[in-house]
Amino acid sequence: MNISIIGRLTGPKGDIAYQILSKIAPQFPAVKFNIAGGPVTSRFEELASDNIEFYGFVDNVPEVIKESDLVIGAGRVAVEALQLNTPILAIGEKQYMGILDKSNIKKAQISNFGDCALDESHDFKQISKDLKNFIQSDYQQDNLSEVVDQYSPEVILPKINQVYSHALTDVAFSKQKEAAVVMYHRVVNEPLTDSKFNVYITKDKLDWQLGNLKKRGFDFITFKDLANGVKAKKPIILTFDDGYEDNYLNLLPLLKKHQAKAVIYCLGDCTVQSNTWDEKLGEPCAHLMSDNQIKECHDSGLVEIASHGLKHQHLPGLIDKEAREEFELSKSNLESLINDKVVSFAYPYGDYGDREEALAYESGYDFAIGTVNGPLKLTDNYYAIRRIQIFPNEGKLGFWKKTSGFYLRLCKLKSKDF
Ligand SMILES: [Zn+2]
Repeated sequence: MNISIIGRLTGPKGDIAYQILSKIAPQFPAVKFNIAGGPVTSRFEELASDNIEFYGFVDNVPEVIKESDLVIGAGRVAVEALQLNTPILAIGEKQYMGILDKSNIKKAQISNFGDCALDESHDFKQISKDLKNFIQSDYQQDNLSEVVDQYSPEVILPKINQVYSHALTDVAFSKQKEAAVVMYHRVVNEPLTDSKFNVYITKDKLDWQLGNLKKRGFDFITFKDLANGVKAKKPIILTFDDGYEDNYLNLLPLLKKHQAKAVIYCLGDCTVQSNTWDEKLGEPCAHLMSDNQIKECHDSGLVEIASHGLKHQHLPGLIDKEAREEFELSKSNLESLINDKVVSFAYPYGDYGDREEALAYESGYDFAIGTVNGPLKLTDNYYAIRRIQIFPNEGKLGFWKKTSGFYLRLCKLKSKDF
């Protein structure tokens, strides 16, 4: 039998390794103990014997794992051993997990297999008992393939990207007390006289607002810019919900004119061609962009195409499977349409709870956006980003206040609605 201890031989891990090698190894001369890691100090060197061999630091850890019947380690070593279906006695810097099986694997994952947890003194008696049990019994490894799948590159890489996106945004906004994320919907030629929800702005007014922001020195950025590490001195994010055809007809030319950028939240189900969800409630019918129009917006380089779900539903009312599809399918549909990554999601109606935040994260979005709810500071929760709504009759002073960079804090002070 081969037992491999893999990891650093310093700190608490080193002490445990020393105890195992000096107290347990001599009791089992037929068991070979291989130690991959270091530094191999003199106290370890003295232990080298017929059944104790020190490899020092090795490049090929999987090779050592493959030769082992049991691996003693934590963190990355434990994940690699799991992937090679080798039993693991997880002893981390901070926590002793025992031999990983179905009963303790979840807990072990949380502490990265013993490496990050609250300090806990290692109970050597327990370690010794578990190790002896393993050597003397015919150990059957539980099937942990489900857990192994969670560490596959397909699952891990998007998560790493999310960590980067959030870290880059933390940096980009480190000096911003408040970054305005402004919310619009339709961009129309003339004021709508029969609108119930007033989710529009006229193109002349928007023209003035974009020019005004430009004059005041704002940098128009998108969530995708943030994910890519773009830094801006005076950032502002303009968002347009639902993906109306008038965004293509009226907004896109204005963005070109002012060299401004915007995020458009489109539906991922192309069979929904107009605002049926609002029409039912008496709002005039408005067409949504066709696939080609969405593509053209994206290809302009001025528009981030992002997801607003599949069919504009109240997500918290959906069963789990349907809710998940709203996030996952809308993302993959839009991504194949624009041939680019979709990094942000706007919850329809700004309606979401813990489940929706988790689904946005799990589906690989870097950011999820509500309406006028969520924390005041954008960086506090990247899955509950708050927006400021601009109304059709917004005056110049109102517009200035809302984009001032202190509007949310001002409202809070006055305990006023946002
Ligand atoms: Zn909407």
